[in-house]
Amino acid sequence: MTETTAIPTVSANVPLLRVHSYESLGTYDGPGIRLVVFLQGCNFRCLYCANPDTITLQGGTLTPIDEIVQKALNEQPFFGRKGGVTFSGGEPTLQAEALIPLVDALHKRGINVCIDTNGSIITDAARELYRRTDLVLLDVKQFNPLRHRTLTERDNTNTLATAAFLAEVGTPFWLRYVLVPGYSDDVADIEALCRHLQGNTALQRVEILPYHTLGMHKYEPLGMEYKLKDVPYNTPQQLDAARELFARYFADVRVN
Ligand code: SF4
Repeated sequence: MTETTAIPTVSANVPLLRVHSYESLGTYDGPGIRLVVFLQGCNFRCLYCANPDTITLQGGTLTPIDEIVQKALNEQPFFGRKGGVTFSGGEPTLQAEALIPLVDALHKRGINVCIDTNGSIITDAARELYRRTDLVLLDVKQFNPLRHRTLTERDNTNTLATAAFLAEVGTPFWLRYVLVPGYSDDVADIEALCRHLQGNTALQRVEILPYHTLGMHKYEPLGMEYKLKDVPYNTPQQLDAARELFARYFADVRVN
């Protein structure tokens, strides 16, 4: 994979993760109540990224995995039956080697683990991580290759291959789809995505994520330009229409 092989990752020999931040009691990133760990570094450049400060590979805090296990144990009483820990970002699979022993440590303590990913990293470590993960939140930004590149500056081939790989190894995933007016709301593109994923045995749920600009204020201080400032929020009718469209193909479709 030419676009990502040069990206430095935390070595498997050093059980450290580059952490951007944490969110306790999260209810949007996987089932139940969760500790969300935002990891630093991403290989995509999504125009609407709400966490542009997680993109650089240089930031964040190098954190021993034991510290994250302890944080999860402190919050475990709130997780209930369905909750647990979600690794988000940034792109967590860039640090797959260090995540594998952490996932094992959390499982030993009975803690459920989700990975929120753009699905573009295909390495042995990422595959192993997917095998061990309870649920993957697979963010597909666009099905149309050209419009995917416009939206993310990257290719979507690996993301779609990851969806197939999850079915192969039996790791369930929720498809997450940000509905960006003018960029990812084309009916033909969504139908093509649905047809592509229809029959994927690992797909459990579709979550449509409304477009928002909550991260826009972070761009200027980072010396970045927010290029979608003129894109309006979705109307309720647009969200309903997208939900009905996905629901023609999948049983469990929600607007998150
Ligand atoms: S994949 Fe996620 S973290 Fe990376 S640029 Fe896109 S929205 Fe931001």
